[in-house]
Amino acid sequence: MSAKQETSVLRETGADRTTRADRATRRAVFLAKDGVVVHNGPSGAETPRLRLVKGVGPGLRLLRDAGFSFEVVAREPGVARGLYDEESLAAVRGQLDELLAAEGIVLAGFSYCPHDPHGVRRGYAVECVCRPPQPGLLKRAAQERRLRLGRSWLIGATLDDVEAGVHAGCRTVMLDDGHEREWRMSEARLPHHVAQGFDEAALLILEDEHVLSWRERAVAARSR
Ligand SMILES: [Zn+2]
Repeated sequence: MSAKQETSVLRETGADRTTRADRATRRAVFLAKDGVVVHNGPSGAETPRLRLVKGVGPGLRLLRDAGFSFEVVAREPGVARGLYDEESLAAVRGQLDELLAAEGIVLAGFSYCPHDPHGVRRGYAVECVCRPPQPGLLKRAAQERRLRLGRSWLIGATLDDVEAGVHAGCRTVMLDDGHEREWRMSEARLPHHVAQGFDEAALLILEDEHVLSWRERAVAARSR
């Protein structure tokens, strides 16, 4: 059977449409919470007032229109250290939802690692598989929401974020805005792209995915 015939058979059965729809809904952009979506709050604050990082709204809208869903991932060792509890993270999720809703964005998921082997709280002061640079949070979200990690991206503010993305099989963008101070490099910590701001990160992803319009391309070229 020729490729053309195969295509027409697929069309008749509707299989091609289903496959395409599956692909579109299963791509996600994982977003490190601190330093990517919101500015780092004062550590230890019960329910910090969150502020979106500049460019997050417009950048997410571009990615949304390209078919990506969004998964915020957060490192919250403060739980293990006894600084705040998981209930206050539910309030954080609520604030995130509110801030992003004002930008026309819906979060598909919010997952966090509450562990820290040096913590003090029972059950949380453990070695785990979800604390970046380990990919546990991404893998769990992928399983729960049937995401294709190989077609997903991670935008991180630290090399640990990047490494978690690489181990999960995602492509990665590192925001180089001063959050990473150590720059311990290895192959697994090498981001696919480095961006100066969130809007640039979004454009780099779209450029890589070949879905930029000529206008967006021009903006991307100018922002470098
Ligand atoms: Zn963990």
